[in-house]
Amino acid sequence: MLIDSHAHLEMAEFKNDLEEVIQRAKESGIEHIFTVGTEKKDWERAIEIADSHPGIYAILGVHPHNAKEIDAGTYPTLRELCRNEKVRAYGEIGLDFFRNHSLREVQIKGFREQIALARDLQLPIVVHDRDAHRETVDILKSEGADQWGGIIHCFSGDYRMAKECLDMGFYISIPGTITFNNASEFREIVKKIPLESLLVETDAPFLTPVPYRGKRNEPGFVRYTAEKIAELKKITFEKVAEITTENALRVFRLKPVA
Ligand SMILES: [Zn+2]
Ligand SMILES: [Zn+2]
Repeated sequence: MLIDSHAHLEMAEFKNDLEEVIQRAKESGIEHIFTVGTEKKDWERAIEIADSHPGIYAILGVHPHNAKEIDAGTYPTLRELCRNEKVRAYGEIGLDFFRNHSLREVQIKGFREQIALARDLQLPIVVHDRDAHRETVDILKSEGADQWGGIIHCFSGDYRMAKECLDMGFYISIPGTITFNNASEFREIVKKIPLESLLVETDAPFLTPVPYRGKRNEPGFVRYTAEKIAELKKITFEKVAEITTENALRVFRLKPVA
């Protein structure tokens, strides 16, 4: 079995065929999917999907793109929603200095506040970092995030960043970009990260792996990422599936599937 540690099933891209997408994931051996509600309009939908499907769980938070929308009602609402036992992590939170949909200062403030909130809620954090590697690591350190940990999702940093995140006890989640032709540098980094610290994810509907690149991504495609990791590390697909599953169950504090 495999776990897709990060997808966005509540997004409009899945509006017309969500059940088929979930069914195909099951048929590909994807036992659990973690769906990430990144803004107010998506939180309840993420919970609704998780509540109505046994193997699906939710992750809630304010994405750095939406940091400018944080108001007095945001954190009380999230506090309430995160009490649902299907919510297994807090996120995705962090910094996106590539798109800059929110001002950098606003992103930083939201990131810091939500690290504290997640800690209060005793949920591991799911971190989004794009073109803000140094700042992301510095904030995680200064907020003491190493004390309860989480996941760096869609990892895109260099090996030095990976090492710093591992030293803080974070897991590193690998998306379908590992299969891209131009990802040779990324593949070298992943080779060096111990399997015991890796998760796999799709970030569906985005970042579709080869051989479906260009189409909409879906959780079932996470197997292409796992296959690539097996090839890089010269181990079996089954070993990658087994260990990344154990890692995911540990970070999300779930019992093994019987
Ligand atoms: Zn992200
Ligand atoms: Zn995401």
